[in-house]
Amino acid sequence: GEGMHRFTDPTDGETYVYTQLFLDDIQRVFAAFDQPDLKSVFDVSVTAPEGWQVLANGITEDLGAGRWRAATTPLISTYLVAVAAGPWHSVRTEHRGLPFGIHCRRSLAPHLDTDADEILDITRALYDRYHEKFQEPYPFDSYDQAFVPEFNAGAMENPGLVTFRDDFVFRSAVTDTERQTRAMVIAHEMAHMWFGDLVTLKWWDDIWLNESFAEYMGYQTTLEATRFTQPWVEFGVTRKSWGYDADQRPST
Ligand SMILES: [Zn+2]
Repeated sequence: GEGMHRFTDPTDGETYVYTQLFLDDIQRVFAAFDQPDLKSVFDVSVTAPEGWQVLANGITEDLGAGRWRAATTPLISTYLVAVAAGPWHSVRTEHRGLPFGIHCRRSLAPHLDTDADEILDITRALYDRYHEKFQEPYPFDSYDQAFVPEFNAGAMENPGLVTFRDDFVFRSAVTDTERQTRAMVIAHEMAHMWFGDLVTLKWWDDIWLNESFAEYMGYQTTLEATRFTQPWVEFGVTRKSWGYDADQRPST
C-alpha cells in the first residue's frame, strides 16, 4: 500500500497494480519535488499486459498493443498522481456529461454488481449536492472509483480516480450502518476534489485541516443527500475520539 502496490489475486491468479503516493511515497515511483503547493500537469503513458485496463487521473485512451495514454491532468500536487491497472471489472455510466466508473478486481465482480446502483446513486446525489454547496464546477474530466486490494487506509482522494479498500465491496449481508459508512467515505473523498485537490495545503502540517474539513463535509453531505439519517451518530461514537486522542499529542 505504499508507492506502486502489486497484488495477485489468490482466487483466480489475476494481477493488479495501483499507486498510493500519499503522504510522501512518490519517491518510490518517480523523482519529484514533493511539496503540496508545487503543482504540475502530468502526462502519463502506460504499457500494460494485453487484457488489462488502465485507469488514471484523466480519461485514458487504449492505443492498442497494451499501450495506454491518459489525458493531461490540470495542475495537481505530486501526492495526488494515480494509476490503477489490471483486468478490472467495471461498471460505467455518465452523469451531467461526466464519465463515472466503479471498478474492482474480477473475483469480486458479482458483489460489485449487486451494489452498483446504490454506489452510483449515492455518487450522483453527492456530486449534485456538492455543486450546490461549493458553487464551483467539478474540476476534473472524469470520476472513477476503484475498490483496490490490500489498501492500507480507508480511501484516497486522487483527482478523477479515488481508490477505496475493497472491503467496501461487501461479500455478505451487512448492516445499514456499514452501508452508511461506505456512503460517508464516498462523500469524504468527493469533498477532497474541491478541498485538497483543487485548493491544496501549502505544506503537510495542514493535513489536519484538509482531513477535518473532508470529514465535516462528508458527514454533513451524507445526511443532506442520501437516505442515511444517522451519520453524526457514527461521527460521535467513532471519529470524535480520534480528535480527543490527537489533541493530547505534543505535536498538536
Ligand atoms: Zn481524506
